[in-house]
Amino acid sequence: MLEVTDLSAWYGQAQALHKVDLRVGEGEVVALAGRNGAGKTTLVRCLIGLHRQIDGGVRFLGRDVTRVPAHRRARAGMGWVQDDRGIYASLTVEENLLLPPRVSDRAWPLGRVYEAFPVLAARRKAPGTTLSGGEQQMLAIARTLRTGARLLLMDEPSEGLAPVIVARIGEIIREIKATGAGVLLIEQNVKFAATVADRHYLLSQGRVVESLDNDEFQRREGDLLKHLGI
Ligand code: ATP
Repeated sequence: MLEVTDLSAWYGQAQALHKVDLRVGEGEVVALAGRNGAGKTTLVRCLIGLHRQIDGGVRFLGRDVTRVPAHRRARAGMGWVQDDRGIYASLTVEENLLLPPRVSDRAWPLGRVYEAFPVLAARRKAPGTTLSGGEQQMLAIARTLRTGARLLLMDEPSEGLAPVIVARIGEIIREIKATGAGVLLIEQNVKFAATVADRHYLLSQGRVVESLDNDEFQRREGDLLKHLGI
């Protein structure tokens, strides 16, 4: 559903991505790891249409979206789960869940969201400001599911969260995968990524230096951790 071909990106004269090739299929969870400054955020910004100084191509659901603006990509079903979680602090949990526009018939009804995220059901009247980090992450994911996104781009969903919450997020990613949606998971927590991903890419200095299936990734975990400097 997502095909990235020879994608290069620049900030002025400085090249941040060099001919990146990457693919995410339907119902596939693909993880992307790399050190700080490797180009992960730049890649996500290129995919969702927020970075324009690029060369190469991005196809989504069979359409060339390379020059399509961000709002139209979102409407086509590209869902971004932001790392700063993008929650409206002055609204309640439920208001945050009612806000996102519906972009496909896969949009999760509120009841289904509350079944999958009982913690959000329990806190439906709570203002966004009072949520814990884990609750905020759940809300950010749930809001994207409310739209019916066909592809979820998740930026460091495990960052700063307790292991039990990270495990729950892993279960949710598997549930999302089971619906046929694709997931691109930007993730420095390699151990967590290995519990959910089908395939992995390793980015270094703006280049894809490894592309591995999950078995190979797990076999070479030590070696890859060294590469990542973790
Ligand atoms: P991190 O995990 O620290 O966010 P990253 O893998 O997401 O790192 P990017 O933020 O995409 O990496 O940065 C890739 C390269 O682009 C780096 O060399 C960075 O210095 C450069 N870069 C990022 N943002 C800008 C900017 N606004 N202007 C100039 N250069 C930038």
